[in-house]
Amino acid sequence: MPEKRIILDKIEDKHSPNIDFYRGNGGYEALKKALTQMSPSQILDEMKASNLRGRGGAGFPVGVKWSFINRTFPGPKYLICNADEGEPGTFKDREILQKKPHIMIEGMIIGAYVMGLDAGYIYIRGEFYEPIQAVDKAIREAYDAGILGKDIMGSGFSFDLYTYRGAGAYICGEESSLINSLEGKRGLPRLRPPFPAQVGLYGRPSTVNNVESFSAVPSIINNGGKWYAGLGTPKSGGTKLFSISGHVNRPGVYEIPMGTPWTELFNDMAGGVKDGKKLKAVIPGGSSTPVLRPEELDGMTMDYESVQSKGSMLGSGAVIVLDETTDMVKLLYRILHFYAHESCGQCTPCREGCDWYYDIISRIRHGKGRLEDLDLFERLAKNIGPNTICAFGDAFTTPALSFTRKFRDEFVEYIKNGNK
Ligand code: SF4
Repeated sequence: MPEKRIILDKIEDKHSPNIDFYRGNGGYEALKKALTQMSPSQILDEMKASNLRGRGGAGFPVGVKWSFINRTFPGPKYLICNADEGEPGTFKDREILQKKPHIMIEGMIIGAYVMGLDAGYIYIRGEFYEPIQAVDKAIREAYDAGILGKDIMGSGFSFDLYTYRGAGAYICGEESSLINSLEGKRGLPRLRPPFPAQVGLYGRPSTVNNVESFSAVPSIINNGGKWYAGLGTPKSGGTKLFSISGHVNRPGVYEIPMGTPWTELFNDMAGGVKDGKKLKAVIPGGSSTPVLRPEELDGMTMDYESVQSKGSMLGSGAVIVLDETTDMVKLLYRILHFYAHESCGQCTPCREGCDWYYDIISRIRHGKGRLEDLDLFERLAKNIGPNTICAFGDAFTTPALSFTRKFRDEFVEYIKNGNK
């Protein structure tokens, strides 16, 4: 199975971010079709039939999420695009934002039409300077072309769209803290229920989707939900973007049908391990997902169910490849340093726990560890993950547990003999 470019189609052309180029290649035809030939409920049916699952990491079906909004609920309702891409190893949304922003904007307008929403916000990671400029320019172009604002394409439907720069907090990629941040508050995750579909931005019904999720919408409207579903597996429709980094010959962003064999992505597209070295491990879905040893990759296909059956998660599609020279103790030290820095501090088990985890890995890494430290990771994890407001507790305990379980010898070696 080769790469199948739908979202990334023609993205290598330097004119790809421009509206004229986008429209010249079929862009905004799906929006026209949606506004002039389809009712919101017809579009919703296509979205459900597509089996498109949210591409931000959680994998929740997009059509089902859209159906949670009561489109006749009086007063303003909002659409939010999560462009905060912050999971270490993830860089696929940046590609869309910078090089093909109109495909995301088109998907957002269609979503707003379906759910009867009044305004949209694209919450972009503050460090994404160039993507922010590209998206702002695309929004201006869309307004000038009558594609945003009042009476879009003469359809009577109106929708306004704005960008909002985040300040670089990892936790603002979680939808409820993103909403708080958008409101000008500290980016603290909210207790749910209520969910954003009932009480979201400014207390109003809101829907949050990821950049890639919105970008898949135009092709579903153009070709039908069944067509899109047929590209993937029975439970995961369509194509998915994977960002591959680490010790590979051709790191980058690849768009492949869901269910593509791991070996095709890794060997045929990314060129296998760099410099002829041996593969040591793969983190398949970003730094918070369990690491897999080479033998666990046998028969794995790139979709939610298959990666889960191997004991990990597809997450955001951030594949990190590690060769035989990788020092797993030092890598876990870096990962836990990151998470200790990013806890929002709201819940005691997470706020204290991530510092404890970092203290433990620090002493192991510096040759002062104790064998019981490995059991301490296990014991603490039981009291962290289930007792926190958001999934961050699992995000930092999971790599610690999978690293120390699967590469225990390396940790024991550090504990017994230090870093030689
Ligand atoms: Fe904040 Fe951590 Fe609690 Fe999430 S789990 S709300 S990041 S303290």
